[in-house]
Amino acid sequence: MSAVQEALAALPLVDHHCHGAVTAQLAPAEFASLLTEGEPRPGSGISPFDTPVGVAVRRHCAPLLDLPRHAPAADYLARRTALGWAEVNRRFLSAAAAGAFCVDTGYAPRPLTSPAELARAAGATAYEVVRLETVAETVAREGVEPGEYAGVFRAAAERAVRRPGVVAVKSVAAYRTGFALDPARPADAEVTAAARRWLAAGGPLTDPVLVRQLLWTAVDLGLPLQLHTGFGDADLRLHRADPALLTDWLRLTRGTVPVLLLHCWPYQRNAAYLAAVFEHVYLDVGLALHHAGPARARAILEEALEITPFRKLLYSSDAYALAEFHHLGALCFRQGLAALLKDRVDADELSLPDALLIAAWTGQDNARRLYGLSASDPTND
Ligand SMILES: [Zn+2]
Repeated sequence: MSAVQEALAALPLVDHHCHGAVTAQLAPAEFASLLTEGEPRPGSGISPFDTPVGVAVRRHCAPLLDLPRHAPAADYLARRTALGWAEVNRRFLSAAAAGAFCVDTGYAPRPLTSPAELARAAGATAYEVVRLETVAETVAREGVEPGEYAGVFRAAAERAVRRPGVVAVKSVAAYRTGFALDPARPADAEVTAAARRWLAAGGPLTDPVLVRQLLWTAVDLGLPLQLHTGFGDADLRLHRADPALLTDWLRLTRGTVPVLLLHCWPYQRNAAYLAAVFEHVYLDVGLALHHAGPARARAILEEALEITPFRKLLYSSDAYALAEFHHLGALCFRQGLAALLKDRVDADELSLPDALLIAAWTGQDNARRLYGLSASDPTND
């Protein structure tokens, strides 16, 4: 093993954006549907295992369930069921060997581990990320006058982020409207009129004025803001989730909160440009790492690192529900980054000390500095 590989293998990563793992036994069809961002159709003869992520799970996750590498999908599912969800979670979460997780708790259509449960199973520390759309939708559901909406939402968001262990907020504006929005902060009268329409109609927050108001409220809260960009499920319109569409908004928010562009694929080069030119912009390539698998994770990291300043790239898994992904994301990051740094050292484009610094910065230090995580924080309960 090279010195860079050894350093990355031993690094307690900060997974700065992930979700909980399932706390229930999964039927084979449920597991298959969680393996993909797509919509599997049972009976179609097309298995979500026959994908880059599916073969990566069989190659890299099967051995942790005491199976041979590349075990058939049916054997994998049977073994997973026999071990039970708690043991499966414990094995994969501890194999991720992360020092800390920042957990988005705002999307839980099925029961998932809380940040404290995730931390316990992993032997790590967990922090919480507050999803602002969930806060806004709770305010709407509980009932509010249109003219009061902005103030009540802001107060609810302030209460949510004041809870212990909260280190950031997140928005899924990419899903709701996309980023081709008027970048300006909306006027109070506009917000009231939009709130009147939304409160009467109900449903998820998809009004462009209210999405803008949410993004500007995030700026007011003063915490780092995570933004889903690029790759996601079929609810997304990918071309509207290109982070380059945020350029005018990023100009207006210069000097305010750090903006973390999550996932980014296939726009990692656009995100890298934004991180290179805007002081408050950072990025990761989570989600894409395990969906592309170790075979291509290096290429994605390499594109992201073409121009991203080394203090601006972070690690995330964006694992959701399947603890396999907390492990696989970490494995893809460690292997992909180690391989590309080693080649640069071998070519004398980078000194070994510089390569080791880049590994430590991107794997851990950048996130610890941004979110103010100390190495000795107790696990939150
Ligand atoms: Zn996520």
